[in-house]
Amino acid sequence: MAVDRLRQDQETPAAGKLLMRQLPFLTIIAALGLLATAASSAQPESAEAADSPSHIALHRSQPPAKLLMPLEGEQAQVVKGLCVEDEKRIAEQLQSVSLHQRLLRVAVGEVEGVKAALVKFQAGDLLTGQFQLAAMETDAAAALATVFSADTDIRHVDVWSVVPSVANAGGQSHRPVFSLSAARSSYLALADSINNDPQAVRRLGVVRYDPLLLCYASDNPSHNSALVPLPPTAYTKALVGYGADWQHILASNGRLPDNASPEPTVRMMLHGTRSRRRVAITIDDGPCPLITPLILQVLNRHQAVANFFVVGEKAEQYPQLLRDIAQAGHLIGNHTYHHRRLSELGIQEIAAELDACQTVVGWLTGEVMRYLRPPGGDYTAEVLRCASARSQIITLWTHNAGDWANPPVSEIVQRCLTGVRPGSIILMHGGDINSVRALPLIIRGLRARGLEPALLSEMHGPNCPELLTLDVALHLPQNGWQPDKAK
Ligand SMILES: [Zn+2]
Repeated sequence: MAVDRLRQDQETPAAGKLLMRQLPFLTIIAALGLLATAASSAQPESAEAADSPSHIALHRSQPPAKLLMPLEGEQAQVVKGLCVEDEKRIAEQLQSVSLHQRLLRVAVGEVEGVKAALVKFQAGDLLTGQFQLAAMETDAAAALATVFSADTDIRHVDVWSVVPSVANAGGQSHRPVFSLSAARSSYLALADSINNDPQAVRRLGVVRYDPLLLCYASDNPSHNSALVPLPPTAYTKALVGYGADWQHILASNGRLPDNASPEPTVRMMLHGTRSRRRVAITIDDGPCPLITPLILQVLNRHQAVANFFVVGEKAEQYPQLLRDIAQAGHLIGNHTYHHRRLSELGIQEIAAELDACQTVVGWLTGEVMRYLRPPGGDYTAEVLRCASARSQIITLWTHNAGDWANPPVSEIVQRCLTGVRPGSIILMHGGDINSVRALPLIIRGLRARGLEPALLSEMHGPNCPELLTLDVALHLPQNGWQPDKAK
């Protein structure tokens, strides 16, 4: 009911609490917008300029107006609508505490009685319009306490603060500048400390502070030597691919295949060995808040392993989720940094996409990824050359869950299990709740057929005939191989 009231408040400019808190914020945005318009030619500072790592050391007290533009329309629902009662209760309680940021979304996902939640704020203090680490950490502490006390079945919470951005690989129009993931057990171990001092959230695994945020946060320790530095668990590496520098990085960072040493072949995996009763479940496009924690809990409950083809940009935004995948013993594969269609890119950009994703995964897990899945299964001779030079195995699939469009659970399960046999490779996506709900049914269905989910590395030997060896100079059809149509 408070949520309904909240929406009414947004639609009707009455003296609602939230609106009152938003007013100064909106006034500042409007003022900034006017300033930006009046002085656009004389003001070189822009979000793009701020993205450059070379600017991070500079402290700006006020983020540009476009970073503070309110995200989502006034009709936007704060509750996601997955577990509505939980979500409403959490949203109500959060509105009753004094939040520093605008609450954008509360979502609680549930699969087989196991729940995970996320709380999303818009970065920027409602009163001052400034980015403050203290404001984000205090709101994050409030979100953790509220969510974990709302329902004991909630095992994991993601909290993040975002700024407006262009749509990225997941179709999001925001950029997380602060992210934090906590399992119930790790939160409870620190709950007293966090209640006393919200800054203690920094000790919850890997808490990520985007360089853009640090650039503008006046309470960033690097701007004030009296403050203690962020602890080693706080992830503050410069971004690999964001902003204006990306083109420069593309031109210099991609390790091109060595033209002088001919690498005539590349390995490709269309399916695994038929001689062992194993099937690989592959989950693309993560890590994703709420969904990845639920997937990991389902896999853990069913004692099953999976293979995650991750997008480097998202791994960078949610570093703890990537570490959770690795620590649970699942396989991590390369799905490029930006999830771009590789057939549309030149060889230098392809190389940079592969290397940037590897850089992020290497930072966080120390792993060198052996398996590459080009987005859409789409490849060209240049992709083969790049994969060959990196000794990567291009990994396609035999069964496509078609779950990127979030169809009904029964449809996903049917697509994954129809005709499944030893060596099959199932393609799923890690972005929607129905994929997670289908997962236990798929695992049970495989086991009912005497098949066991396996890592890709368990599906072939080093010189195994299951690995197709292709000549990289092979003439390919314009759109690459079409896995769904292949026999
Ligand atoms: Zn993908």
